[in-house]
This record gives sequence, structure tokens and C-alpha cells, in this order.
Amino acid sequence: MQTNIRNAPLVLVGAGHAHLVSLRHWVTQGYRAPAGSLMINPEPQAWYSGMMPGLIAGRFQSEQCQVPLAGLCAAVGLELVCSKLSELNADTGLLELADGQTIEFETLSLNSGAAAPTPFEHDQSLQLLGAKPFPGFIHQWQSWLSSPPRQLAILGGGAAGFELAVALRISFPDTLLDLFSSRTLLSGHPPRLARLARARLKHAQVTLHENQPIDSITDGQLYVQSSAVLQPQAVILATGTAAPAWQRRCGLDCDADGFIRINPQLQSLSHPSIFASGDCASLPDTPHSGVYAVRQGGVLGDNLMAQIKGTALKTYQPQPSALALLACADGSALLSYGSLATEGRLAGKLKDWLDLRFMRQMT
Ligand SMILES: Cc1cc2nc3c(=O)[nH]c(=O)nc-3n(C[C@H](O)[C@H](O)[C@H](O)COP(=O)(O)OP(=O)(O)OC[C@H]3O[C@@H](n4cnc5c(N)ncnc54)[C@H](O)[C@@H]3O)c2cc1C
Repeated sequence: MQTNIRNAPLVLVGAGHAHLVSLRHWVTQGYRAPAGSLMINPEPQAWYSGMMPGLIAGRFQSEQCQVPLAGLCAAVGLELVCSKLSELNADTGLLELADGQTIEFETLSLNSGAAAPTPFEHDQSLQLLGAKPFPGFIHQWQSWLSSPPRQLAILGGGAAGFELAVALRISFPDTLLDLFSSRTLLSGHPPRLARLARARLKHAQVTLHENQPIDSITDGQLYVQSSAVLQPQAVILATGTAAPAWQRRCGLDCDADGFIRINPQLQSLSHPSIFASGDCASLPDTPHSGVYAVRQGGVLGDNLMAQIKGTALKTYQPQPSALALLACADGSALLSYGSLATEGRLAGKLKDWLDLRFMRQMT
């Protein structure tokens, strides 16, 4: 029999981008969570992904990339619990936390992100470092600053892999850097963006391996189709998003990859008192990206309050395309929007302006 169960009318799990926007929205609307409501996040601050490559490139300090949670939570009547959800039972409405607490919720909102997948066999002979979660990545990066690695392989030919590769060049001028893309570089963007990115990587002396999906890591070597291709000191994973194990077994309707299927009101398809947003969720035409998570935040904030009050929910409409700005470590950026692709200082200034404006709004 379960003892010491804490009851909470509303529980927010993960201080992801969508929850940050929701809470700021509540502050401006004067909403307060019902008494006893909780926010659960492993750390007392949230990291903003858009500025992480700038932090690695030495353009920002850590504090500039973090949103402190205590004040924001207090302003809307949420108690901040620094722990991690380890199990969810969607049918019984119970959460288990890593610190041993059990919580029974009435309404739950999940915005706990996703980690980078390891889409290959590996024998633990090399250190694998996910670009997310950010606290672990930043911790390792900081320890490398005093003892730079000889050679790093970065896996992932999307925006995050590109940005990290050019930023790491600034941190580690003498380290050999190799970027592996399982397809062509930046394959979801216009071909011109990939051409601009290839030139930037060449200039930064990052060796680019396109159409080279790493199949396995054995005895410290990376393999592509049974051929050893590199023996780096460590591997950085910027390989997209993978759902955590608890999502697959929590009883919520999930897609084939374990992401929580939601409706346009951001509710679980199977359990309407559970909301999900950002990278942990699955909604048609909604890529896993900070831009989309941020846009969901406003609707989510209103819908959580509406759910509690029993009023009508709003509908989230994903934007048909989003502006992509890829930081290039020197203050400039690559830009793509629809079929347009360009680069330059102006794009970098626009990225900084958008990122710093977001952080000003959050703090
Ligand atoms: C290097 C890099 C750069 C990026 N740059 C951009 C960019 O410029 N623009 C863009 O649109 N996207 C960018 N992305 C993608 C972006 O990071 C994600 O799409 C975005 O962060 C998703 O936000 P989210 O709201 O799902 O939650 P996240 O921002 O991922 O936050 C999840 C939160 O939940 C917490 N959490 C995790 N597990 C648990 C748990 N079990 N219990 C409680 N809390 C938990 C985490 O600690 C974290 O605080 C970048 C990604 C990387 C790796």
C-alpha cells in the first residue's frame, strides 16, 4: 500500500521553453496556480538553447543563458521541487520522483524535453556526451577547458551539430573536430544553406563527413558500414530527440518513437487531464524545436488555467514554416526561411536580438 502521497491540483514537470512562456504569461495575466501546485525540474534554473552555442563560443556567460526558476514559480504560486520525474502512471494519476516522493495530481503538464538518441551499437569504449541535457554538457565542456581533448567527433548534421562544431572550434583551437551527418548537411533546409555551412566548417577547420551514419562504436573507433572511420577521444551527440523510457511505459498514447500524442489543445489524446508540449510531445506538422515549443507556451498557459476553471480550451496552430538562425560563433549567423538562405552579421544581430529579448522577457 502506498503511503505519504502528496496531493497537488496542478503539477508542471520540466521547466522547458513552453512552461517558461506559460508562467510568464500567467504573471502578465495575473493568474495564480491553485494552492499546493508544483513545478518539478532537476535544477533551480532552466537553460535557453538558443544561446548555448554562443556560450560555448565565449560570446555569453552561463548566467545569461539561464532562467532562475524560484522567483518565476513564486510569482504564480507554484512550489519549485528540484527533482526529476522517474515514473508516471497516467491511469492512477500518480507521479514518482527520483527523490522518492509520490505525488497525486489532478492536472498534469509535461514539458520535459528530450535527450539526444544514440542510434547505434556501442561498447562504452568512448565517452558519449549528449548536447542535451544542457547541464551535463556544460559541466563536461567546462572540465575540457583546462584539458582540451585531442579529437572530438560531433554526430548530427542538423542545426545543433553545425552550431556546436563551429563554437567548439573557438573553445578548443587545437582539437581535431569531425562532424558526422547521416544524410547531407542540414538536409531539411534549402541547399544553399548547406553550401554556406560547408564553407563555414571548412574555415573553422572542422572535417565534415556527409552521408556517413555511424553504425557502431567498438574499441574506441567509430564505424560506418563495418569500416572504422575515426578514433576520437569523445563523441558529442547532436542527433535529434529521443523519448525517455518512462514515457513509453506511462500509459499515455505515444507515437512509434515514444513521444506523447497530443491534440491541438495540447492535451494527451488518451488522458485529457494531462497536457504535453515541446520536444516530449508529438503533434502533426510540429517539429521538435525551441521555436515551436515557445509558440505553444502561450496557448498552454491559457489552457491549463481553463482546464482548472472548467472553461473552453484554446487551439494551438503550428506556423507553416519557421525562421531558422544558425549561430556561427563569430557573431554572424546563417539564416533560412522557406526557400531563402543567406548569411551575415545582420542575421547574427537579429539572432542575438531575438534571443536576448526572450531572456529579458523571462527574467
Ligand atoms: C545546441 C543546441 C542548440 C539549439 N538551438 C536552438 C535554436 O536556436 N532554436 C530552436 O528553435 N531550437 C534549438 N534547439 C532545440 C531546442 O533545444 C529544443 O527543441 C527545445 O529546448 C525544446 O524545448 P522544450 O520546451 O521541449 O524543453 P527543454 O528546453 O528541452 O527543457 C526541458 C526541461 O525539462 C527538464 N526535465 C527533463 N527531464 C525531466 C524529468 N524527468 N523530470 C523533470 N524535469 C525534467 C530539463 O532539465 C529541462 O529543464 C537547440 C538544441 C541544441 C542541442
